[in-house]
Amino acid sequence: PMYLSDDPPTLGAIAELFPMLGIGGYYSGPRFCKARQSTAVIIPYRDREVHLRHWLHYTLGTLVKQQLEFTVFVVEQEGIDVFNKGQLMNTAFLWAQRQTRVKFQCFIFHDVDMIPEIVGNFYTCADGKAVKHLSPYIDKFNYTTNKKIGVTVGGAVAFTEWQYRAVNGYSNVYWGWGGEDDDMNLRIKLTGLRRIRPDSNYGRYKMIPHEHDGGNPMNKQRHKLLKEAKMRMARDGLGDLATQIVAVSLHPTHTHILVRLNVPHLPWL
Ligand code: UDP
Ligand code: MN
Repeated sequence: PMYLSDDPPTLGAIAELFPMLGIGGYYSGPRFCKARQSTAVIIPYRDREVHLRHWLHYTLGTLVKQQLEFTVFVVEQEGIDVFNKGQLMNTAFLWAQRQTRVKFQCFIFHDVDMIPEIVGNFYTCADGKAVKHLSPYIDKFNYTTNKKIGVTVGGAVAFTEWQYRAVNGYSNVYWGWGGEDDDMNLRIKLTGLRRIRPDSNYGRYKMIPHEHDGGNPMNKQRHKLLKEAKMRMARDGLGDLATQIVAVSLHPTHTHILVRLNVPHLPWL
């Protein structure tokens, strides 16, 4: 198992550990070869600064050792309204696609509190119809696949551009905690894609323990929304996303995207 200190290095100190990263945290890969894919790691984020420092401190080194070309995108929801992970991930995907500096082929959607433990668990995408769920084996569950693992793609999941467009991205309608990963799982099946996973020697993660976030109350409507997932899928997602990018800042370790959401009235809150 992996033990984390209470006080990970500051962002400045982490930047000094990874001088090979360029502006915005872009890594072009080792000098002597060219990576086959360029990976965008997209982390939905708000008010988890300590987790983010842990994540960058451990995972940037792993990504460099894997000899990838990559950039980490931290996509933050502005304000204090209820959290919407799906909309943040869709916004970051579209932004990463639109910018012209690097052409990304692989998009990995990643919780900030999941730390990969094995350097050989590659942050690349599989070809064709296989969506790669990177994080099936979690310390909290003694690295066994519990029942839930069979039905979700939570934690860290890798899509090619084509795969992510084929499922129309994440659903935009899940406000608060829960449901969006199960909805994505349905989208993968309904689109005729399949899931693949690293085996138990590789797909191992430390989940940083945390309290429930105040701004992310459990979504009591999630089961109802899931029942209508199939019907909504063609329209709800990348196609009808309506968010505003407030700022993009290039840090030495990552690119930060600040996003404003249109928050509807949510009667269940
Ligand atoms: N998240 C965040 N701030 C919040 C709520 C969620 O940054 O207030 C992000 C973060 O990346 C987190 C992910 O959304 O890992 C999933 O939320 P959470 O950890 O609460 O879900 P869990 O998997 O622990 O049930
Ligand atoms: Mn968590």
